[in-house]
Amino acid sequence: MPDDLPPDTAALRDRVEHLAREALVPLRDDAGLDPADRAMRVRDASKEAGVYPMAQPAEFGGGATLLALTVVRDILGGHNVCHLPGIFGPGPGVLAGVGEPLRSRYLAPLLAGEKRAAFGFTEPDDAERATWGVLKGDTLTVNGQKSYVTGGASADFINVLVEIEGHGPAMVVVDRDAPGVHIRRTFGSVDGSHHAYIEFRDVALPATQVVGQPGLGLPRAMRQIGDTRLALAAESIGLCRWVIDFVTDHITSPHRSGAPLAAREGVRLRYADMRIRAYAARSMVYRTARLGDAGENIINEGIASKVFATEAVGEIVDTGIQLVGGGALRSGHPLEALYRRVRALRLAEGSSDVLRLNLARGRLDLAKGRI
Ligand SMILES: Cc1cc2nc3c(=O)[nH]c(=O)nc-3n(C[C@H](O)[C@H](O)[C@H](O)COP(=O)(O)OP(=O)(O)OC[C@H]3O[C@@H](n4cnc5c(N)ncnc54)[C@H](O)[C@@H]3O)c2cc1C
Repeated sequence: MPDDLPPDTAALRDRVEHLAREALVPLRDDAGLDPADRAMRVRDASKEAGVYPMAQPAEFGGGATLLALTVVRDILGGHNVCHLPGIFGPGPGVLAGVGEPLRSRYLAPLLAGEKRAAFGFTEPDDAERATWGVLKGDTLTVNGQKSYVTGGASADFINVLVEIEGHGPAMVVVDRDAPGVHIRRTFGSVDGSHHAYIEFRDVALPATQVVGQPGLGLPRAMRQIGDTRLALAAESIGLCRWVIDFVTDHITSPHRSGAPLAAREGVRLRYADMRIRAYAARSMVYRTARLGDAGENIINEGIASKVFATEAVGEIVDTGIQLVGGGALRSGHPLEALYRRVRALRLAEGSSDVLRLNLARGRLDLAKGRI
């Protein structure tokens, strides 16, 4: 890793390199392992290396800097193990900093791994009205639907963005088994993750289920999304390196044409483009993490990093497959699997073009943002 790191972060880097190489890669490659068993072993190894709590609040042993988290995710991506469940303990998400009763009922069991949360934000294209709530006295009644709730069917509760009449958007905690919550459909996506379409029909909740102040739900939701965007960008830059290493091995090995593919100028040009893109993405993500740690507002830089890094890894995997040839599309080939996984990144946590529009708006309409 070329970056100049403080000594404690450099020590972390070495620890995570060891964790990835010695524990996580063998667990990833052990096809006979039951997924639950794999997740448990991943979690144990990650705890031993001190990585598991890093994205949790400081009181749980976490509170890592953005630079430290970026280094870890970059390395995990560099070994193509960042997708393994169990590496990081559950983060607080939109429940960060909540008081009672949400703290004891939801946040503490979530961080302890006793309850699972999901995030309900996206509305279906045919929604007549975005999910809304009516607050009367101490009761909030919620109606509506969320169409793409990752892990929604197995979650204990869902943090739902609700437009509360007369107050504005709010994040609301809804128990999945509350009366009126219906899982309409479950589905998988190309990256292997699982989701639910959830309907809310006259779901009556105590007003204490509203997270923070009603009306301020959007900034709270966006904070969680912002953190996740930088995490995806950091994994993407590691994955770029992994693909380039894979392709380097392939094109420097003997080829049936008589000379390794790396001897061909056309191949070298494509290969150089991969490296240029990976370098640009890495530079952006590390700079953004450092600015964030310095206390700067990094909304624009986080958006730019997410768009650039996820598009870069998409293009790099695509070119990698082209250079390796048809064998890379064989079901189960690591590049084939990665191609499917990284495709989702340009939509999850905000589609690339909608993020581009936000970035333009920041400067043109709000006169904000550095870039
Ligand atoms: C793997 C995965 C996991 C997900 N998990 C969750 C989750 O847990 N919770 C959740 O709430 N959502 C989740 N989502 C949904 C995700 O947030 C949305 O898919 C994403 O925000 C895009 O919204 P959409 O699918 O409704 O597409 P749309 O918003 O309809 O966009 C479709 C296309 O139109 C373009 N477009 C839209 N508006 C404009 C505009 N104004 N100008 C120009 N172009 C525009 C977009 O860029 C995109 O290309 C997940 C998605 C994926 C792929």
